[in-house]
Amino acid sequence: MPHFVLVPMLAAGHAGPMLDMARALASRGALVTFVTTPLNLLRLGRAPGDGELPIRFLPLRFPCTEAGLPEGCESADALPGIDFLRNFHDACAMLRAPLVAHLREAHPPASGLVSDTCHPWTGAVARELGVPRLGLETFCAFSSFCMRQMSIHSVFEGISDHKRPVRVPGFPIHVEMSRARSPENFSGFGKVFADEVMAENARADGLVVNSFAELEPLFVDAYEAALGKKIWAVGPLFLQRNMPLSATSGSDDATAVRCGSWLEQKKPRSAVLVSFGSLARSSQPQLVEIAHGLEASNRPFIWVVKPASLAEFERWLSDDGFERRVGDRGLVVTGWAPQKAILSHPATGAFVTHCGWNSVLECVAAGLPMTTWPHFGDQFMNEKLVVDVLRVGVPVGVKDATQWGVETEGVVATREDVERALEAVMDGGVVGAARQARAAELGRKAWDAVARGGSSDRNMSLLVDFVEQMKATV
Ligand code: UDP
Repeated sequence: MPHFVLVPMLAAGHAGPMLDMARALASRGALVTFVTTPLNLLRLGRAPGDGELPIRFLPLRFPCTEAGLPEGCESADALPGIDFLRNFHDACAMLRAPLVAHLREAHPPASGLVSDTCHPWTGAVARELGVPRLGLETFCAFSSFCMRQMSIHSVFEGISDHKRPVRVPGFPIHVEMSRARSPENFSGFGKVFADEVMAENARADGLVVNSFAELEPLFVDAYEAALGKKIWAVGPLFLQRNMPLSATSGSDDATAVRCGSWLEQKKPRSAVLVSFGSLARSSQPQLVEIAHGLEASNRPFIWVVKPASLAEFERWLSDDGFERRVGDRGLVVTGWAPQKAILSHPATGAFVTHCGWNSVLECVAAGLPMTTWPHFGDQFMNEKLVVDVLRVGVPVGVKDATQWGVETEGVVATREDVERALEAVMDGGVVGAARQARAAELGRKAWDAVARGGSSDRNMSLLVDFVEQMKATV
């Protein structure tokens, strides 16, 4: 029985795919040690059947104080601001010694490490233990490869205008990206960290992407050729056990019931879901524009709101009369929504998304078109894949990138932008119907990829074989 040690990045959008990876490996008979921290352990969503899988959770104490973080900041979404990101990565890297100590005593011994590519320090752990390390990219191949090319060619060096688009060199299609819209806008310490990640990716024994071969074959192949090592496309990981999407959404029961019964009353493919993931926080003026756009659209909607200030948003809700005017046509959720369950409900027709990769993939698996509203990180690259390559998206047309953790009062899309994009994505005319048909076809391909003998299913088996062979060689 191979023993995989999985080290997720401590953030909602990263830990979820890694837990799905754990389930996929464990359901193939591998033993999995899933490294986490006490607070993250409490947040990990559990799915039916998890209890029967050979997954050992290893909560390591997170060294907040030693790294200069406020106590309790055990995940990226809990940080008080972007300035703490360096400390956060330092704290993650301090897990190395306790992890190595634990794994030296582990029975059976570790066969290999699968760690988030955002944890470059895990390369040293694998080398100390003499086991292979595979990096899990939580970006798609398109965006991972795009980022690699921008980073190794230092495309923004000497360019002072952060909004100036630069062509991405050595990329299979013509793509331009500005520094403001590239992942460099995310980390606050930019290229230094990206360089560490790239260096460890180059030393890794291979990479794993949460995507599937049929979705972006050109980019999986080009990335693999450039890297000169194996890339296993094993996604969508959340489908790997062929479980209905509704079973793994992880929101509290009351919200799930509320959304479920609201959707039950709506016509097939009539409702829109609006949600910007776990990290983005919208300014009050921007929320007002979204509200007016949704109101004017005349379509049923579930709006998942993560406001910069919840108190201000709630005050506005009660003063403005928005909920009274839209009545039963709209549902506003201010907590964690059961996104996968909503997307997979027959009443949902489209998704207004920030283009976080998990959200895009969940929408693809649900077979729905999207309205793209990128904020930061890999999201502008994902938008290009969705809109220009897959042709299943309508851009809302954001005028500026937002920077994670930096509050602005800025409005990047107006009520008219929202209304127009919703009209286009829900349009039943020739163009809209063709887009919806392409999205439905991609949804079928996603399920085929994880079905027995599908490309992702085969890749997962090959990955397990690879690690076992490496172990045998050592
Ligand atoms: N998510 C959810 N409910 C919410 C917000 C987010 O279930 O209210 C889930 C969503 O389904 C996805 C993940 O959280 O699996 C967000 O990951 P993504 O990569 O889309 O964006 P990020 O949060 O990393 O920006």
